[in-house]
Amino acid sequence: MSREKTYNFSAGPSALPTEVLATAANELLDFRSTGMSVMEMSHRSSAFLSIFNETKADLKEILNVPDTHEILFLQGGASSQFSMVPLNLMAPDECADYAVTGNFAKIAAKEAGKYGTVNIAADTSYCNHTRIPTQDELKLNPDAKYFYYCGNNTIFGTEWHYIPEVSVPLVTDMSSDILTKPLDVSKFGIIFAGAQKNLAPAGVTLVVIDKSLAGHEQAVTPLMMSYQTMINKDSMYNTPPCYNIYMLGLMLKWIEARGGLEAMDALRHEKSALLYNYLDESKFFIPCAEKEARSFMNVTFNTGDADKDAAFCKAAAAAGFVNLKGHRLVGGMRASIYNAVPMQAVEALVEFMKDYEVKNRV
Ligand SMILES: *Cc1c(COP(=O)(O)O)cnc(C)c1O
Repeated sequence: MSREKTYNFSAGPSALPTEVLATAANELLDFRSTGMSVMEMSHRSSAFLSIFNETKADLKEILNVPDTHEILFLQGGASSQFSMVPLNLMAPDECADYAVTGNFAKIAAKEAGKYGTVNIAADTSYCNHTRIPTQDELKLNPDAKYFYYCGNNTIFGTEWHYIPEVSVPLVTDMSSDILTKPLDVSKFGIIFAGAQKNLAPAGVTLVVIDKSLAGHEQAVTPLMMSYQTMINKDSMYNTPPCYNIYMLGLMLKWIEARGGLEAMDALRHEKSALLYNYLDESKFFIPCAEKEARSFMNVTFNTGDADKDAAFCKAAAAAGFVNLKGHRLVGGMRASIYNAVPMQAVEALVEFMKDYEVKNRV
């Protein structure tokens, strides 16, 4: 199957823009007359340092990161942050608030429980995470050192459409909604994101941290998991994921050229509306998430019958619409429509689904 005829709706690692991949391909063997690939360079070389610094500067500009915050390029995926956050932000006899609105937040809360006390501020498992708690529903503990939530629930297809009002630092897993909308970074203590959804290939983890939160890690904290270590060494205590940082840099240029986060925001509204509007009128497909909580990035739906779901995924894949199978915790289907998935792919999918419905509805 050719790239031109493939519509990739993968939840992660996900589609990257063809333009970005083409630039990377052009520069693969000889990066701007250095005679080397970016993969072959020392991370201390001037050629790589200029890539690193430009990527950081572009991110600072696009995401409007204030000087109070540091940008870190780490490894270990978003999952490593599940441990790094509690180790750095609370002492063993302290506590933190966690909102459990999906599987990744649930794992994060469990992990934090190893290093301190976790207060479950909200838990939507009773409705299989089809909704997001309201501000009034959050049970905040006055002694909490921070409030943790997952901004977009990649598996369940729900998204926080408001920033919780709390009096402690906000820690947010933005793995699947980073750079999809303008953001007031100053409201957050820590934002983190595994790159492979919306930023770059898997292998680099973005952390944006209010610098005043670093330097108070528990004594047992591994050196590599101390934010202060990484801030002091500008993400280069050890070898950073150089090639992935380079790819992130290309992706940032791509976002910038398309109008930045305002443009990404408009695009996500347009793409998701097309899909949800069709799902709402369909007599064959059923959207999973509650309307108010719907994710702009991961659209979850099913037919109400596991066999029919499987038959649809098979037919869709044969027609070029790949990676539509839902996560095993939810079943059904999931169309992930991150920044790099073009409007045209969503239009083609909706046309395919309409046609499929006509042929298969009884
Ligand atoms: C994918 C994902 C993760 C896990 O990311 P890794 O980089 O694989 O550790 C965590 N949180 C969210 C919201 C995700 O989408």
